[in-house]
Amino acid sequence: MAALQTATPPSQAPRAQLIHIEVDRRLGHEWDEWNGRPLPGGGDFSAAPGLFFRYAALTVAVATAAVALLLYLIGPRLAVLWAPLSQDLWIALGVLAGLSTLYLSVLAASFYGGRNLLPERLMERGPYLQLMNYTSLVARGFGKRDWVEHAAIDVYNTLAERRGRTVGKGELLVLIPRCLSKQALDGVLEIAGRYEVPVFVATRGQLARRVIRERRPRAVVAVACERDMMTGLRDVAGKLPVLGLTMQLPNGPCRDATIDLGQMERWVQGLVAEAPARGRTRQ
Ligand code: SF4
Repeated sequence: MAALQTATPPSQAPRAQLIHIEVDRRLGHEWDEWNGRPLPGGGDFSAAPGLFFRYAALTVAVATAAVALLLYLIGPRLAVLWAPLSQDLWIALGVLAGLSTLYLSVLAASFYGGRNLLPERLMERGPYLQLMNYTSLVARGFGKRDWVEHAAIDVYNTLAERRGRTVGKGELLVLIPRCLSKQALDGVLEIAGRYEVPVFVATRGQLARRVIRERRPRAVVAVACERDMMTGLRDVAGKLPVLGLTMQLPNGPCRDATIDLGQMERWVQGLVAEAPARGRTRQ
């Protein structure tokens, strides 16, 4: 019996279509929801510090109202468990709201008054970092995230810079992201070369933390967009003095970012210039 050979020559075998997706950038996860449209203001989220203080006050009010509502709803059940419990919790909430308002007032007085009224552990390297992050969450609900974060970082930098910290050349680290434009990158390398400061490209927050763990700097000048800077400051600034330089994103997130090189040089110069070998801290 003759068999009909129908095998397709290898060259004509059906092949899966290979679809090439050309990407001109690798988005950081902070920008996952970016819709591809140009960013508002050409990617410059500069905002007056007052914007942060307004949103921080709103955050304290929202948090107090949320806990008050919860207490109102579960209060009767708590009273069944133990009669004074509900009343005690209301008093605790009142005290907490009062302390938060007082803290915010001291913060604003420090910022606008030109003198830090609390030590850094109670201010920019302490509860302020949490306040920044909660305020950012509330600002997201109003579509003002990047501007409020920018203002919060500006307030943080002002308070941190006023400490007048200086360190030895080998004790400062400059951390930059992978998205800088060529011009910005050249500028950073030039400044770092001038002050003999090592520069690391931190492609992810995890890597940045590893570099810090291994190099053990005594201060860091970090460059990132507002979104990345918020997480970086939250994770690192409590343990190590950090100044955070935000960027402009004229071509959208994660590509061709530009920075204020003059500001970077002032910070690097201020941190390493005339520092004695062991470094010192004023104020
Ligand atoms: S720092 Fe640059 S690469 Fe990182 S998330 Fe921000 S824009 Fe993207």
